[in-house]
Amino acid sequence: MNAHKIKQDMCEMGRRLYNKGFAAANDGNITVRIGENEVLCTPTMHSKGFLKTEDICTMDMSGKQTAGIKKRSSEALLHLEIYKKRDDIKSVVHCHPPHATAFAVAREPIPQCVLPEVEVFLGDVPITRYETPGGKAFAETILPFVEKTNVIILANHGTVSYGVDVEQAYWWTEILDAYCRILMLARQLGNVSYFSEKEERELLTLKQQWGWSDPRNTEEYKNCDVCANDIFRNSWKESGVQRRAFPAPPPMPAANASKIEQAVSQSMAGIAPVLKANASQGAPNGLAGIDQEELVKMITAQVMKQLAQ
Ligand SMILES: [Zn+2]
Repeated sequence: MNAHKIKQDMCEMGRRLYNKGFAAANDGNITVRIGENEVLCTPTMHSKGFLKTEDICTMDMSGKQTAGIKKRSSEALLHLEIYKKRDDIKSVVHCHPPHATAFAVAREPIPQCVLPEVEVFLGDVPITRYETPGGKAFAETILPFVEKTNVIILANHGTVSYGVDVEQAYWWTEILDAYCRILMLARQLGNVSYFSEKEERELLTLKQQWGWSDPRNTEEYKNCDVCANDIFRNSWKESGVQRRAFPAPPPMPAANASKIEQAVSQSMAGIAPVLKANASQGAPNGLAGIDQEELVKMITAQVMKQLAQ
């Protein structure tokens, strides 16, 4: 591995970040893991647009600086949490791209099923809960998401994305910010059109064929509505995320059918004790003694209750 070449790449990505407007003044930081316990890191209080290779410092996996003239970035701990959880990741990019950060400030979930590239490269994008930047508590806000995605939005702050090298780590941020910008423009025009379930499943199949993992392609989420942001939805409450600007995409029939199926089976389970009690009183099949109309009412009420959950 050529550490000098990697430092040159880090400087180049710094220039891209700065020129794209993703890192105002001295914002943003880039790291590359070059060994078990060795991580290259951009310096603090230094514009990412004008980095030289000698500005890049080195730290260990605890965050202690081990080489370099300039002081390492104060947000490096965030990067280290990712390396600790993901052996496959070699580079992390953190910055404040304006359009993605606008979603972070609005706490608006990133809609799915709108652009093919986004579905294939990004998938569902989580938004963390807010913490004051720099410390351990801040670094830990990303932990619930690190293994299920390669790009995370930090509430009222910015983004962090990661990959097998520094260019790939940067790409996800660029794709995300371009997407957020397009969403805002389309909304101003007055309409956002969503993929049908068939169109979305075709993209997810392509993604699988290319060998890219996506939780939506796993058994766990097989019966979920693919466009409903189901992967990270459970975190919304804690991070104050809520659909306000972009309405939910139309529900997908397959997911609805499986929801109804599930509701019916759960409802039958709810009614079973009543039937059992009847059976124990000597009624065959547990049905005798219950008026048929009464039974239909009971099942309907149970199904409605399950669907409302
Ligand atoms: Zn930051």
